[in-house]
Amino acid sequence: MATLRVAPKPEAAPMKAAQVPKPGAEFEIVDRQIPEPDAGQVRIRVKACGICHSDVLVKDGLLPGIQYPRVPGHEVAGIVDEVGAGVTMWKKGQRVGVGWHGGHDNTCRECRRGDFRNCRNVKVSGLSYDGGYQQYMVAPVEALVPIPDGLTDVEAAPLLDAGITTYNALRNSGAMPGDLVAVQGIGGLGHLGVQFANKFGYNVAAIGRSSDNAVLAKNLGAHVYIDSQATNAAEELQKLGGARVIIATAPNSKAMSALINGLGPNGKLVVVGAAADPIEVTPSQLIFGSKTIQGWAAGTPAASEDTLNFCVLTGVRPMIETYPLERAAEAYARMLSGKAEFRVVLTM
Ligand SMILES: [Zn+2]
Repeated sequence: MATLRVAPKPEAAPMKAAQVPKPGAEFEIVDRQIPEPDAGQVRIRVKACGICHSDVLVKDGLLPGIQYPRVPGHEVAGIVDEVGAGVTMWKKGQRVGVGWHGGHDNTCRECRRGDFRNCRNVKVSGLSYDGGYQQYMVAPVEALVPIPDGLTDVEAAPLLDAGITTYNALRNSGAMPGDLVAVQGIGGLGHLGVQFANKFGYNVAAIGRSSDNAVLAKNLGAHVYIDSQATNAAEELQKLGGARVIIATAPNSKAMSALINGLGPNGKLVVVGAAADPIEVTPSQLIFGSKTIQGWAAGTPAASEDTLNFCVLTGVRPMIETYPLERAAEAYARMLSGKAEFRVVLTM
């Protein structure tokens, strides 16, 4: 049995993890045993993990059912380090990522119809189980995304949530090449949305709340920049013919509401920025011109794979600030401040 490989003893190599001990508590850096993958799972040696605004759900305990302590992180890039029983598709040493979609049951009504994104028992990485703010994590095979050679780990990580969200929302929006597509918010999601919208061949209007990001937005591929503080952004969009699609990335419901009148006939407001307060719209705003408002959440690992490959093909890249895992609390605070340009990524 010379070929039998002996797994390293977990106690021989404890790892570091940044965990939230309980809702609302500060991050703590702890030593943990390296987890072992069960059947149908792999262990990933994490190389990079993006910090996303939705990690606030874990940090502040905003969703019921989260078990603590919990290690957040759903923008994970790393290397398959060990495979559990029955895993044949993924090999040790392979570069993989894990995004928001952390698993599905394959048995519910939606899964039986192939709509894994809307699985009734969908798992979220870093929320349903420990995510990527640690040196090693375990994930089910249906959550894995292969990372192409053309992307570094820190580049790939934010694309697994911020990237796929904007890419997938836009490619499913119904907008055609040449259509006027507005991207509201030039931040973590928006700076990627502008790039994708440009590469998809849209006429891209970037909408920000000051003139600060005007030059940047044009460099990212916006054809027009609209300052929503200095002008009425909806009127500006109408001057351009009305938007076929507005993708709303900044979590600001008032700003989203104010843009609805910027939609053209059959226009659609696609909401990806998660704000807690209501969007306000009158029925007549929707009825005349057959306007719609649609929400969109990330996508499946297959859609993440498409996102990564598209980025390699076209040169779309996230703008990132990196922090070592040990400074997770500082990195999280930087993300929360809204001042990061634009995605904060932990490195291990
Ligand atoms: Zn399901």
